[in-house]
Amino acid sequence: MSSNSLCPACGSADIKKLLYTSQGGFLWTPFLNFIKCRGCGARFSGKTGQLDPQVPKGMRIISVIVILGFIGLMVGFALSSSFNPLENASPSPTPNVKVPTPSRR
Ligand SMILES: [Zn+2]
Repeated sequence: MSSNSLCPACGSADIKKLLYTSQGGFLWTPFLNFIKCRGCGARFSGKTGQLDPQVPKGMRIISVIVILGFIGLMVGFALSSSFNPLENASPSPTPNVKVPTPSRR
C-alpha cells in the first residue's frame, strides 16, 4: 500500500475503488478515479484526494449524449435489421408517371 492510497478524511487504508457512482456512472467514475473509504464511508478522488468529488457538468452532458446516441444507434440498428429484408425483397422502382386528368363532360 502506498501512502497515496489513504483516506484523506480518517487516514484509513481500507479503501475501495469505485466502478460506478450515480453521478459519474460507468463512464466517468473509473475515469475520474473515485475511491470510497470503507472505514468512514467518505468518497474522494484518487487523483487529487479531494473529498466528495463532483463530476463536471460538461462530462455529465457528454455521458448523456453518448448514452442517448448509443440507444438511438441500437434502436436504429434494430429497426433497419428488421426492415432491410423486406426492402431488399421488394425492389419496387416507382415510376413517376403523370396520370392525365380525365376530361369530364
Ligand atoms: Zn475514511
